[in-house]
Amino acid sequence: MVGTAGIADVQDEDAPEKRQIDVVALGIVTAAILLFVAIGSQVGPSVVRSLLNRGSGPDNFALNAFLLNIAIIILGWSRYRQLCEEIRRRKEAEWEARRLAETDPLTGFRNRRSFNSGVAALLAANGEDRAVVLMMIDLDNFKQINDYNGHRAGDLLLQECALRITAGLPKDALIGRIGGDEFAVALAFDKYRIDSLDQIAAGLVETVGQPVQVEALRLEVTASIGLARSDVTGSSGEMPDARALLERADIAMYHAKRRGRNSYYWFEAHMADEMRFRTELENGIRAGIPLQEFVPFYEQQIDLQTGCLIGFEMLARWDSPKFGVVTPDVFIPIAEEIGAIAELSESVIAQALEDAKSWDADLTLSINISPLQLRDPWFAQKLIKMLLEAKFPPQRLEIEITESCLHQNIAQVRSLITSLKNQGVRVSLDDFGTGYSSLAQLRSLPFDRIKIDRSFVSSLAENKDSAAIVSSIALLGKGLNLPITAEGIENGDVLEQLLQYGEITGQGYYYGRPQPAREVKEWLGGIELVANREFLESELPRLAPTVPPPDNSGGSPSEPDIKPAKRA
Ligand code: C2E
Ligand code: CA
Ligand code: CA
Repeated sequence: MVGTAGIADVQDEDAPEKRQIDVVALGIVTAAILLFVAIGSQVGPSVVRSLLNRGSGPDNFALNAFLLNIAIIILGWSRYRQLCEEIRRRKEAEWEARRLAETDPLTGFRNRRSFNSGVAALLAANGEDRAVVLMMIDLDNFKQINDYNGHRAGDLLLQECALRITAGLPKDALIGRIGGDEFAVALAFDKYRIDSLDQIAAGLVETVGQPVQVEALRLEVTASIGLARSDVTGSSGEMPDARALLERADIAMYHAKRRGRNSYYWFEAHMADEMRFRTELENGIRAGIPLQEFVPFYEQQIDLQTGCLIGFEMLARWDSPKFGVVTPDVFIPIAEEIGAIAELSESVIAQALEDAKSWDADLTLSINISPLQLRDPWFAQKLIKMLLEAKFPPQRLEIEITESCLHQNIAQVRSLITSLKNQGVRVSLDDFGTGYSSLAQLRSLPFDRIKIDRSFVSSLAENKDSAAIVSSIALLGKGLNLPITAEGIENGDVLEQLLQYGEITGQGYYYGRPQPAREVKEWLGGIELVANREFLESELPRLAPTVPPPDNSGGSPSEPDIKPAKRA
């Protein structure tokens, strides 16, 4: 058993009562012995005298009392032994029950409750030159591994990590498992030898990060570690207690996570402010979804050769009463982390479908889909159901998925794309060029379009490398017979260069910043591109019974001339 240091020392609270029983039993025996001595001193000599025929024997009463006394001593002693044995067994059972109540059965480490009390005891026992360090160790991608490979593999992985953690710590370290994949360590240390703690933390990051062979599986997790020391005062000058120390180590651990994981950080005061801000954002996101604070903005998509408007890409904005207008780069990763992305996305998509119904029927709507949503085997069905409810023709919808999705479960992505395409929805590969997707992947997935990442396009005019990349992606598109969209067109020079690639669509601040629904609708009304008919029944989606597989301010630098879309 590892890491339970101190549990055996737990005080036996019932001890006084048991000791009383001991004392009573022992008292009876002692009294009986004293009586034995007293009566024996009278009976003994008369027995001896009668044996020597020098007098009469002891009287009957005294002899009986003497024999009774012997019987009491024998009985009392045996009862005393029985009692002692019973108490020993009870103590053992209670100790075992307490150990089980205070230990994590999987790893043998302390559980959260007993870890906290152990830290409090450690803090209380510290002298002048010594302090306590608290380490919070969180496994980075454990949940996915557990979900994907099953709980048995997850348990074995946790046990292996527990062994590695124990091996990387001094013998007297107090170790706890305080959450599913969260371990905590408390250790008294010499205040003047802080380097040794850095070495320990770096060592743990290194060893936990090594691949683990679990039966036939080779699994890899990494660890994010936060450290906090007890001899650093808080903002109001007080020394941290066990709870505050745990909180600090936790904040430092989250900081390590935000800084890319697989590393360790010491707690610093500014991290607490960041954490508070982050918590406010998380709460704001959760509360803002049902209040429809997340709203769609729209960026024009243009046929570069003809200058015609062909549709819009929907880009979500958070119109927060507290933080103002927040861009998706800030809230999408948080929504993904707190598990709110699907709900958020469904809310903005539903609004966008309604908005787009008021546009001209030839204008398309592109929406961005998070890689996390693609993991949902029911995603395609959900999207088709939304189209059906909104009475929106799937042929007008295009979804954009990023290259990073392709590194996940490619079979699932393929079946999802196929389901959507069967319904008429088009699928484009977003941010192409940033995610190292292979040519083989591109060919094996039935994409309808490639979008060249804006980082290459916006620097096209002044950067030779970018120009070379854009040129080769345009060639690749031609070779694979896939239309290309260039995003991030910021000026006329870039547009000029892009025109040499023939048929290509584009979008960017040159054509205007993303606009809210009302402004888009007014503008479209002005150029006569608003809806002028209801959709026919045949244009609407049918829910196929598929089985699921396993910145918005300012204007553009110089307003280009946008023509109405080509009529079909
Ligand atoms: P993206 O899909 O690559 O979207 C294009 C981003 O580039 C948008 O930023 C847009 O405002 C910006 N942009 C457009 N033209 C130009 C230009 O000429 N120059 C420059 N410098 N930037 C330009 P935004 O709106 O901040 O969106 C950022 C990312 O957030 C998007 O990148 C998209 O991946 C994601 N996103 C936006 N809305 C949603 C959503 O509803 N769901 C999901 N899952 N992701 C979304
Ligand atoms: Ca996009
Ligand atoms: Ca993009």
